[in-house]
Amino acid sequence: MDARLEAIRGTVLARNPGEGEFHQAVTEVFESLGPVHDRHPEFLEGAVLERLCEPERQIIFRVPWTDDAGRVQINRGFRVEFNSALGPYKGGLRFHPSVYLGIVKFLGFEQIFKNALTGMPIGGGKGGSDFDPRGRSDAEVMRFCQSFMTELYRHIGEYTDVPAGDIGVGGREIGYLFGQYKRITNRYESGVLTGKGISWGGSLVRPEATGYGTVIFTEEMLKTRGKSFDGQRVVVSGTGNVAINAIAKAQSLGAIVVACSDSSGYIVDDAGIDVALLRQVKEVERGRLKDYETRRPAVTYVDGGSVWDVDATVALPCATQNELDGDAAARLVRNGLIAVGEGANMPSTRDAVAVFQDSGVLFGPGKAANAGGVATSALEMQQNASRDSWTFAHTEQRLTEIMVGIHDRCAATADEYGDPGNYVLGANIGGFVKVADAMLAQGLI
Ligand code: GLU
Repeated sequence: MDARLEAIRGTVLARNPGEGEFHQAVTEVFESLGPVHDRHPEFLEGAVLERLCEPERQIIFRVPWTDDAGRVQINRGFRVEFNSALGPYKGGLRFHPSVYLGIVKFLGFEQIFKNALTGMPIGGGKGGSDFDPRGRSDAEVMRFCQSFMTELYRHIGEYTDVPAGDIGVGGREIGYLFGQYKRITNRYESGVLTGKGISWGGSLVRPEATGYGTVIFTEEMLKTRGKSFDGQRVVVSGTGNVAINAIAKAQSLGAIVVACSDSSGYIVDDAGIDVALLRQVKEVERGRLKDYETRRPAVTYVDGGSVWDVDATVALPCATQNELDGDAAARLVRNGLIAVGEGANMPSTRDAVAVFQDSGVLFGPGKAANAGGVATSALEMQQNASRDSWTFAHTEQRLTEIMVGIHDRCAATADEYGDPGNYVLGANIGGFVKVADAMLAQGLI
């Protein structure tokens, strides 16, 4: 790493102790930015990186609620408003027991660059809670969401900060959150949240957008080598919203998706995953992958273990951070892997990224490859602002144009900085320069 950046990184790490995921996200970005600072000394003079690593505002709050047995439960809520150079803070809420400040800050930091790459007017933010929705009744989830919003509402707004979903926060949770915001403020402010239901201000394609976008981005990478998804053997990790829609889109392009996972295990379905059955099990019944196996003969369910033990030509990690390590990457590469598109945020460890890049595998980092979700959130904001709603076909067309645009910008930036095909470099520099220019233009704030 460039010595000037290494010194700044040292300060950031010392100032944010115990936040491993945030350190990792910062380090990965800094590793790309040496050449930019050679060309743009004004970024160093203006201390852009030091400012960028310090969130504009961090909110941590108590979320009290009662469970169905009448017991009082306490969770911790977060919203990190990281950077508003390009627009209102924008980013999802994650409800998962692993959530703490370091996770929210890594996600918020990534979001700044991702959102810049979309070309839409959105800044970066992220939030969530250590609340675990798994096993909770609808009534418990509603009471939790209402309590969470009773504090959050004072910090958000369509021109201020616009939350959405992430792990553990889907249409149901956004509904409860929106209802409580409306009740407290007495305003039908559609643009305050995205991922809303279609009949009350949501956008078509938003549920599919992250998974679809990841596949569109990966298809663009494959095209640079004269290839496509057609006939590829694909492994996807996860079975959440991102994974299921990535599976559907990859199969629509002629791929065979042979495996996917949940936190208990994975299935191998050599005929190609039955997406309708998977949706029934995971989305309608909120069940486990094991239930898929019981309904489809000739499927293997592996309890525990790693889905990355299944051979693939294309891997789409769509579960969570650091789910794919250096050993798994090396094994996949030995067995014929040609491309990786990250549907999740930072799913590959730094060792895994190094393995992919050193072996010439096409590697699309999450902040570029999974930007379709937040980009479609920005399309939802556009529709809300104009009190309009677009067709599926039109919205999907916009998503496709945005993803192709992100791909091309990353590729062109990598070329410009002398490392063709390095999408990590292209995404980090492309996103950073846009934010840095805006920050300098807006003065020392
Ligand atoms: N949570 C998603 C992400 O990681 C989407 C955020 C949004 O739509 O605001 O980008």
